[in-house]
Amino acid sequence: MEAKDKTQKCHTCGGTMEQGETTVTVDFGSGVVVVRNVPATVCSQCGMEWIDDDVAERIETIVKNAQNKHSVVEVLSLSA
Ligand SMILES: [Zn+2]
Repeated sequence: MEAKDKTQKCHTCGGTMEQGETTVTVDFGSGVVVVRNVPATVCSQCGMEWIDDDVAERIETIVKNAQNKHSVVEVLSLSA
């Protein structure tokens, strides 16, 4: 695996990417999961958000849990 370059460029507009936080909403059909304080890389120019694979996996697990519990609305925070 190659080392990740810390200074990423936005794939959409070529703008500078900055570390930030976002809110992810996942609609899984029978319910909705809202995950707040999700670490993300945000483009300072167009606002495009990129989420790391490991963070996406954590969100996936949360959604699966919500599905298993038959939650209709689940709101939680993913602060590190
Ligand atoms: Zn951009």
